[in-house]
Amino acid sequence: MAIDILFKNGKIVTDSGIFKADVAVTGEKITAIAASIKPDPETTVIDCRSKLILPGAIDAHTHLAMPFGGTISSDDYETGTRSAACGGTTTVFDFILQDTGETFPDAIKRRDALAAPQAVVDYSFHLAVKDVHDKLLYTMEDAVKMGVPSFKVFMVYDFGVTDGVFYEVLEHSKSIGALIGVHAENNELVNYLSAKYAAEKKLSPWYHYLSRPEFVEGEADERAIHWAKATGAALYIVHLANAQGLRAVTKARDEGYPIFAETCPQYLNFTSDVYKRPDGRNFVCSPPIKGKASQKALWDGIARGDIATVATDHCPFLQKEKDWGKKDFRKIPNGCAGIENMYPYMLSEANKGHISYSKAVELCSTNVAKIFGLSHKKGAVEAGRDADIVVYDPLKRVTIKNKDMHGATDHTIWEGEYLRGYPVQTWSRGKLVAKDGKFLGQKGAGQFVACKPINLKTPDLRNL
Ligand SMILES: [Zn+2]
Repeated sequence: MAIDILFKNGKIVTDSGIFKADVAVTGEKITAIAASIKPDPETTVIDCRSKLILPGAIDAHTHLAMPFGGTISSDDYETGTRSAACGGTTTVFDFILQDTGETFPDAIKRRDALAAPQAVVDYSFHLAVKDVHDKLLYTMEDAVKMGVPSFKVFMVYDFGVTDGVFYEVLEHSKSIGALIGVHAENNELVNYLSAKYAAEKKLSPWYHYLSRPEFVEGEADERAIHWAKATGAALYIVHLANAQGLRAVTKARDEGYPIFAETCPQYLNFTSDVYKRPDGRNFVCSPPIKGKASQKALWDGIARGDIATVATDHCPFLQKEKDWGKKDFRKIPNGCAGIENMYPYMLSEANKGHISYSKAVELCSTNVAKIFGLSHKKGAVEAGRDADIVVYDPLKRVTIKNKDMHGATDHTIWEGEYLRGYPVQTWSRGKLVAKDGKFLGQKGAGQFVACKPINLKTPDLRNL
């Protein structure tokens, strides 16, 4: 088999180490990894001297073209995945919000019809559960068979579910190979505190943070873990941002429960002080960014392995939409952009010595593939897997500017952040889709990736 692309003289980063080797790609797949591979006459050789070769990141948490707060998030499947590609992310998981009365397979078909013609890199889905009355619950299994074994419940918002439905879904997940994710915040307290501050005319973005004090998330994390333990189901906590919830995760994991936690770069890099800034509304997301103690706890959780993944919760809105809440935090659409910044940021933290490169790869790619049943294709630079490869230049220096980003949003909370090192090439299934800050991919080239059912007995999950 002729070699199409040969990555020569680079160092490969895996979740467990770094080693010097060449990587051969034929068609869409990685076909060989060895100390020295000879090119064929037709082979395109990519010199990776002094560069790192990484698996493309898998962003486990994005909201593309998501209806929310009276508008729609400003990146669609094209601009969102284009932005992802330029930041070294080669697979994105998007959330499908089930319509009331809609079966899960219908929900998948509805959103895939939007995504397929637009996506520039591969994508998969999580299903956000709204309605499981009567037979709808049993259509979860049909979704698993279609390659979407991951579901999420919201404990907040008007589309959130009751504890009863949450429990029912957890219970059902065990027999069908599904994994339940949760957005954990206490809805009653958020509603009470928001109304209280509004009545007192306390309406600046700072009160977004105060109406969702840290225990609003912590208590809900504890409750969610409680239901997971009670049903014996696995649980994936999305965008965990607080120390109290993380303590509950650590305790449950120490007791042997399959609880997986995800956090986001915005929680690792900023603190709640941002809500006092003049542009505080731009940072409004839920759960809100927490105080210094929680931020430190998250980094400690990463070091211990109690935080399994880092994902973006990419859900951008335009400045004018964020401005709806200039005088009332309740009117600010919740969410920030980050799809292009996650991998560069986490790798920069590695470059600065805060974590290892292997840790960054584990959090942003390998563990995501393991948890969501994608290890047969994604998550590592390994023979047999898709050639989703990032060439990373540790010497490059970048100051993030929104004008250099490739999405459709007109501002970023990452403006002015300084990064050491940057992805300089992104390959998606053997095709170069981004190079030196230029997008080179193609609309519609991204494909839906079917995930395998969740099986806690596989080594991937047993040892996580
Ligand atoms: Zn989200």
